[in-house]
Amino acid sequence: MIYKMEEKYREYLSDESKLQGNALSISFPESREEVLKVIQHCKDRNLSITIQGGRSGIVGGAVPNNNHILNSLKLTKIEKIDNETLSVQCGVNLNHLNNYIDQECKGYFFPVDPTEKTATIGGIIASGSKGPNSHYYGESFRYFRELTVVFSDLSVKVLSSRDELFSKIFSSEGIYGFILEAKIKLLKKPEYIWGITFFFKAIEDVCGFTKQIKKYQCSAEAKIVCGEFMDNHTIELIDVFKKNMSKIKAIPPIPTGYKHLVYLEIHSDNESDLEDTVEFLIEAAIENNSDVEVSWAVSEDRDLENIRNYRHAAAECVNIILEKRRPDIPDIRKIGLDISCNEELCETIKRYDIENIDTVLFGHIFSSHLHLNFLPKNKDEFLKSVELEKKVSAYAKKQGGNIITEHGVGKLKKELFLELSEDAVINEIKKTKQDLDSENTFNPNNMV
Ligand SMILES: Cc1cc2nc3c(=O)[nH]c(=O)nc-3n(C[C@H](O)[C@H](O)[C@H](O)COP(=O)(O)OP(=O)(O)OC[C@H]3O[C@@H](n4cnc5c(N)ncnc54)[C@H](O)[C@@H]3O)c2cc1C
Repeated sequence: MIYKMEEKYREYLSDESKLQGNALSISFPESREEVLKVIQHCKDRNLSITIQGGRSGIVGGAVPNNNHILNSLKLTKIEKIDNETLSVQCGVNLNHLNNYIDQECKGYFFPVDPTEKTATIGGIIASGSKGPNSHYYGESFRYFRELTVVFSDLSVKVLSSRDELFSKIFSSEGIYGFILEAKIKLLKKPEYIWGITFFFKAIEDVCGFTKQIKKYQCSAEAKIVCGEFMDNHTIELIDVFKKNMSKIKAIPPIPTGYKHLVYLEIHSDNESDLEDTVEFLIEAAIENNSDVEVSWAVSEDRDLENIRNYRHAAAECVNIILEKRRPDIPDIRKIGLDISCNEELCETIKRYDIENIDTVLFGHIFSSHLHLNFLPKNKDEFLKSVELEKKVSAYAKKQGGNIITEHGVGKLKKELFLELSEDAVINEIKKTKQDLDSENTFNPNNMV
């Protein structure tokens, strides 16, 4: 059950942050009993444990710390309680879950969608992940009913949403215990789902359009569930790799003369409400110099999936290019801002226009929650990007924004988090860690 680290397990030494770690041993338990045995084994030998799910995290949370790796990928049971409730083991990823729901809970969906389909339920909970749709559907914890957690004293507790500890487990980055399983809540699928992509020539037009939609959306009958922005650099980067990406290679190039795009998804149970909302969107786009004749509108499941994959490709292409640059910059890893700003959107976007270093900017435009990713071409640019990451984060914090939103802190953002967070927040996390895992068995070096 416990394997010595060897070459065939090399991939488990890293995650999508591209940070590299080391480990002595690895396990893939298949049941609660095996999880308990692994933890006991490690405690007996004074080994700390790094927990891993799908390793799609981008802050190094699942990168091991020289001791043991407990990987959840064989904990994949799903049990249907009723059409709206499933009991799901932590290693179930979104691909598996969504296929199960399509077959066993027809007409329902799980609103938590951080877009990366290899993300597991355990990883989503521990990272506090959320997707574009959280703009309307809200924080991920709303769709969890119960969590079963194994603590370092080998106790197994079932936490309901009324327990104080329940909310603390979300975004805890696995430092309090091993999340074994969860009860999740599904929602009824809306009758109509439309996705519309508008193209813009200038950032000012994107900001003008966003402002109008933000004002309108509360009163709209049909719900605008997300607003995803991609700047010209992001679109150009995807174009470089698109032909080799099977899920998006059929997406046409963006219309000539346009630079940036905003993708909106509208959910409704009523066709005429949907049409009213779409009409408003079209008028707002025209007012902000977008040609609606060249916009993309889709409503079939497959086309919606394609366009969501296109948006997801933004983050994927960043990772591809970083790997390509590793031979020249061996220490390269993801340097991406995951922050939301409280200032005017155009100001934020202009501030992100960081000269001389290639960047791509994309993300959730209604909440000014944008991801700025640096693409350094050499060691000097890499070091400069790390400094710029700190500088822009400090600015956002000073403006009252958030510096950690959906990707977590992990190991890569730890220094930034400790430097820029309020003492009360850090002390509370440290106290809970001390109460639950005083010997620092789980995920040492994550977050605090
Ligand atoms: C291309 C791409 C796009 C992405 N887009 C988004 C996005 O839109 N929104 C978003 O929020 N994230 C996004 N992510 C980040 C990532 O997918 C999420 O953070 C995801 O939830 C991580 O899940 P995982 O199973 O891969 O976790 P891992 O990477 O394996 O682990 C993440 C953290 O969770 C802990 N953990 C994992 N399982 C458990 C468990 N059972 N018990 C306790 N702790 C555990 C790990 O120790 C680690 O600290 C993206 C990633 C990629 C590569």
